Amino acid sequence: MTDLADLYQQVILDHNRNPRNFGPLAGATCQAQGHNPLCGDRVTVFARVSGPTIEEVAFQGSGCAISKAAASMMTTLVKGRSVAEVEALATRFHSMVTSDPNVPVEAADLGKLAAFAGVRAFPTRVKCATLPWHALRAVIRGAGEPVSTE
Ligand code: ZN
Repeated sequence: MTDLADLYQQVILDHNRNPRNFGPLAGATCQAQGHNPLCGDRVTVFARVSGPTIEEVAFQGSGCAISKAAASMMTTLVKGRSVAEVEALATRFHSMVTSDPNVPVEAADLGKLAAFAGVRAFPTRVKCATLPWHALRAVIRGAGEPVSTE
């Protein structure tokens, strides 16, 4: 799994340097904030949900490279997918990052998310990786509620 360690470096650093879908989302139908006090990460996730589909998603916030890269990659993976698919993906991701670090990750199953397997060896960083997913779950569970103007 040495190659996976390399992938972790490249993909995460790239998403941290050039976060995708970063900034407020015009026409967002819902949003939620997440805070990881252990690390100081803060993230706000915006989404435009239409029926069962997440049409657009974006995020804003500040935090460590892991949290920012996790949020960035998440937005690229969930756009255009159904709420049910995204719930399943969030569950899959959470169980991967909290799994035994000595057990190889099924990279084929997880796709790009396997890049975050490295956090398993650093329990304090697991919350950095899962924070944006927690926020996204809050967003889609509150889908339909108007975005606060404050
Ligand atoms: Zn963090």
